[in-house]
Amino acid sequence: MLNIILMGPPGAGKGTAATWIREDFHLPHISTGDMFREAMASGSPLGEKIRKIVESGGLVSDELTCELVKERLSRPDCQEGYLLDGFPRTIAQAEALKKMGEEIKRPLVAAINLACPAEILVERVTTRRVCPKCGASYNVKTLKPKAEGICDLCGAELIQRKDDNEEAFRTRLENYRKSTEPLLGYYREAGLLHEFDGTLPMGNLKVELSAFLRSLL
Ligand code: AMP
Repeated sequence: MLNIILMGPPGAGKGTAATWIREDFHLPHISTGDMFREAMASGSPLGEKIRKIVESGGLVSDELTCELVKERLSRPDCQEGYLLDGFPRTIAQAEALKKMGEEIKRPLVAAINLACPAEILVERVTTRRVCPKCGASYNVKTLKPKAEGICDLCGAELIQRKDDNEEAFRTRLENYRKSTEPLLGYYREAGLLHEFDGTLPMGNLKVELSAFLRSLL
């Protein structure tokens, strides 16, 4: 059963890896970042409440984030496994996830970390373009879509995220180091951590990750 999480600093390649893992392994892709962006796009009170936090690179509260994930994990499509992307981001969220996994009888089997140095991350994030409809990621230099500005997968117009600027990136990286990096030790101790090189070309990373994920089946 593939109950897995994808971790790594902003720009490490989580979104791109998630796009093909969800296709190849038929897993529901649960990205808390996508959930928050959807709420913001809908103009709901919840979306307006979190807009400032997300656009400046801050972290949404553990309480709200965990509530959304808990609801999502309780849906029937997660009975056969799940791929969490960008959650957990704090020790409190990891503890909450452990409880949720026990409740739905789908405990985590692997925490995949994509490691990448900061110089590469800032370049990747500021040149990234994303699909607001299906969440696919592109890059104006290294991963261009077939038709300029258009998503290969669903045909929507690509956008640049408001938090993909250098200032918000610095805040996100700081939050990552302070709140999320400690999770590496947490999952290493639990025997669940598997580290991959996020600087590898996507094709090579895909081969390595696929082999690993197949070994879990
Ligand atoms: P991402 O798409 O994963 O880069 O997330 C975009 C933004 O959404 C983050 O910078 C945070 O503001 C917010 N966010 C996403 N996931 C979480 C989480 N697990 N906890 C708190 N905030 C989150």
